Amino acid sequence: MNARLSDDQAKVMNLSLAVAVLLLFAKIFAAAITGSSAIYSDAAESVTHVLAVAFAAWALRLAHKPSDDTHHFGHDKVAFVSSGFEGAMISAAALLIVYETGRQMLVGAEIASLGVGMILTAAAAAVNLVLGLALLRVGKRRHSAVLRANGEHVLADVWTSGGVLAALALVHFTGWRWWDPIFAVLAAGKLLWTGFRLMRESLGGLMDQADLAVEKELRETLDAECTARGLSYHNLRHRHSGRTHWIEFHLVFPDDAGLLDAHEVATELEGRVAATIGQDVRVISHLEPRSAEDREEHWELR
Ligand SMILES: [Zn+2]
Ligand SMILES: [Zn+2]
Repeated sequence: MNARLSDDQAKVMNLSLAVAVLLLFAKIFAAAITGSSAIYSDAAESVTHVLAVAFAAWALRLAHKPSDDTHHFGHDKVAFVSSGFEGAMISAAALLIVYETGRQMLVGAEIASLGVGMILTAAAAAVNLVLGLALLRVGKRRHSAVLRANGEHVLADVWTSGGVLAALALVHFTGWRWWDPIFAVLAAGKLLWTGFRLMRESLGGLMDQADLAVEKELRETLDAECTARGLSYHNLRHRHSGRTHWIEFHLVFPDDAGLLDAHEVATELEGRVAATIGQDVRVISHLEPRSAEDREEHWELR
């Protein structure tokens, strides 16, 4: 059922991991030579960033494993765990930044070698901008929650680096060193927001939160197809497990409908419903005669 992991997805994920490791070293170096709170923030984020991307790379591969004897519905739900972990790591970095900034303010650390720090930060931002956009593009094309979450994360880091640059430029031109901690805390706020959003989305996915836009499309198709065939439906349920849509509903036939015909019609209708969603989708219907429509079934027991 689940299509293999495509080359473009594997490539962009490996690239993301390589860039993460490279930028970690560059940022630790920059933080060490400048002593800037803002650059320190960026470096702290890089540590959690590497962990998050490593987890995402593993999850991306696992998500594409086909269903097996112990995972009948595939492995794609791991994507939600991955984006939740990514959100938690980003939030942890934000808290670390606030702590370290406060500490440096109390100590009153000096800032040195601003120029080198700014060049390294600008280079990191440029690399991340290109990478983040590539991750989002492939993620959208392949409907991959893992790649999209990683892309949003990388773009959030571009904002952090931009804030660092603004802080260092202001310190340089005004001589007022408090710009540094102010921007560090602003960057932490932005990271917390991205982290929180990723965790909320991941929880929604794990809880099978229904996509209302999908629901509207499904109902429009079912209304039209059932009316055209003189049938009705109820108990529509659907969920999205990361890559696959799972859809089920009950179809009500006239009492005298033969099983052969009814099954034929139901199969055709399942195909129409699948076609409205387009991507990876599984549809199953339960057939029942009109006179038994109101009987409570096992499926409906609460
Ligand atoms: Zn990051
Ligand atoms: Zn029913």
